[in-house]
Amino acid sequence: MPETILIIEDEPAIADNLVYALELDGFATVWCATGGDGMRVLRDRDIALVVLDVGLPDTNGFELCKKIRSLSAVPVIFLTARSDEVDRIVGLEIGGDDYVVKPFSPRELAARVRAVLRRTAASRPSPDKTPTGLEIDRARRQIMLRGTALDLSRTEFNILAELMVHPGWVRSREQLMDAAWDDPGASSGRTVDAHVKSLRAKLRKVCPGKEVIVTHRGVGYALSENL
Ligand code: CA
Repeated sequence: MPETILIIEDEPAIADNLVYALELDGFATVWCATGGDGMRVLRDRDIALVVLDVGLPDTNGFELCKKIRSLSAVPVIFLTARSDEVDRIVGLEIGGDDYVVKPFSPRELAARVRAVLRRTAASRPSPDKTPTGLEIDRARRQIMLRGTALDLSRTEFNILAELMVHPGWVRSREQLMDAAWDDPGASSGRTVDAHVKSLRAKLRKVCPGKEVIVTHRGVGYALSENL
C-alpha cells in the first residue's frame, strides 16, 4: 500500500500539480479544499503526511496545524505565498516540519515530502518492524529484498547491482548506463530514469512505503542506507 499524502489547498490548479507530482512518485493522495474537510480525512484515514496551505477559505493553516497537532503527530509541510508567513513558520512553535514558498516546482515539493518522511520515520511507530535488506547472488543474477526474490529485467538487475556496491553513494545516470548496458552510447539519461521507475515499482511491491532507491536531483541515484 502506498503512503497517502493529504493535500489541503484551495487552489485547484496547485492541488492538481501536487497530486500529479506525488502520484508520479508513488504516493497516494487525497485533496481537500477546506480545513474542515481536511480534518475529517485525518480522522478517518491513515495519512502519512499533510501538505497544508496557509491561506484557506475557512481557516488558516497555522490554526489548522494546531488542531492537527492536538490529534496526531503526522508530519506537516506548509505551502506559503508570503515571506512573513515563513517567519511565523520558522520562528514560532507551530509544529510544522517544513515549508515550501509559492511558486514552487511540484517535483521539489515531492522531494521535500520524501525527505520529511525519511527524517520522521525513526520517530514514527511502524507497524512493520521486520528487518529489511537486499541480498545479491551475482552468479545467479538474483536479488532478494527482505528474502523475496525480485523478478528483474537484465537492465534493472544491472542498475540495482551497481547501486548495491556502495549503499548511500550517488551514481550518475552515465555511471549507471555504463554499468547496465553493453552499448551505453545507445541510451539516454531518460532511459535510465524509466528503468529506475519500473525497478522502484517492483521494490515497492515487496517493501511498500520504503524508498529503496533515493533520487539526488540533478546528480543521480543512490541506494538508501536505511535498509
Ligand atoms: Ca490558498
